[in-house]
Amino acid sequence: MDGARDVIVGLGSNIGSREALLRAAVDLLAATPGVAVRARSDLYETAPVGPPQARYLNAAVRLRSALDPEALLDALLSIERTLGRERRVRWGARTLDLDVLWIDGVAHRSPTLTVPHAELARREFALRPLVALCPDARDPRDGAPLARALDAVERDPTLRARPFAEAFSRDDVEHTADEGFVTRAADRADLLAAATEAMGALVVDPASVVALRAVPVSIVLDADATDDERVFAWLSEVLYHLDAGRLALRRAVVLDDGEAVRGVLFGEHLDESRHAMRSALKAVTWHALEVGAQPDGSWRAQVVVDV
Ligand code: ATP
Ligand code: CA
Ligand code: CA
Repeated sequence: MDGARDVIVGLGSNIGSREALLRAAVDLLAATPGVAVRARSDLYETAPVGPPQARYLNAAVRLRSALDPEALLDALLSIERTLGRERRVRWGARTLDLDVLWIDGVAHRSPTLTVPHAELARREFALRPLVALCPDARDPRDGAPLARALDAVERDPTLRARPFAEAFSRDDVEHTADEGFVTRAADRADLLAAATEAMGALVVDPASVVALRAVPVSIVLDADATDDERVFAWLSEVLYHLDAGRLALRRAVVLDDGEAVRGVLFGEHLDESRHAMRSALKAVTWHALEVGAQPDGSWRAQVVVDV
């Protein structure tokens, strides 16, 4: 890439399957022409800025990009829209926020874009992953190391870091002639996404699939539906799209507001000549279904599917 520079993009999410949303955003960045994803930071769970709202999951990625700054911003805004961002309240809750935090050697100011990000020096959740990915990064305006800014920034005592994994954890479950899996996620909202991806991985190896198609899925449940019922109903709907819709799944994101569960499945039309096929699934079963919080606060689902 001629004229390419190192770029740090900050990611944040505080509604829905936050971890799955950040992972899907990285996939979509990697698929953006003129952008190469070079590294991902850890995930940082942090206190929200602005009006009262749920805690954020933040991260950053280091890109190599030849796009001009405004074209890069357009690409980020488009990925936000794909992943369900609705702009209502300033600094309000969002499924996904993508900010241009820093571009090596570039100071840019226009009505739509300020780089480095105007709040960067005041935000631990942005500086910490930036400095982890680019320890020698400097402010293009005065050459000051950003690691110094991190030393000086106000600390969030509630900040918690964990690794940004390539995929949710998934173990196969041996169950007579059927197929099954156990999957874990940091919270209840991400569990539905994790279970969706785990079920997709029973059909096709997700490493052989690209996120080219976005298929919206939604179901409505009784407000008092149990966690087992939510997982059963959601996965049954997803299975319809994998099977009848012939979708090879790469990623899933989910937004559960208590009654409606909405999500987007990302993948490609199933093509046996290119996709590494595993099993044909018939139906999600109640048999051996187990969903719940673990003693450490994480969430776990065990699911068996008829083949
Ligand atoms: P903050 O910018 O304080 O983090 P926010 O991310 O919640 O707040 P948004 O509603 O996502 O704000 O963005 C509002 C506008 O900010 C965007 O449409 C974009 O034009 C502008 N903007 C200016 N500088 C940047 C930047 N460095 N990265 C992303 N957007 C920017
Ligand atoms: Ca932001
Ligand atoms: Ca933003």
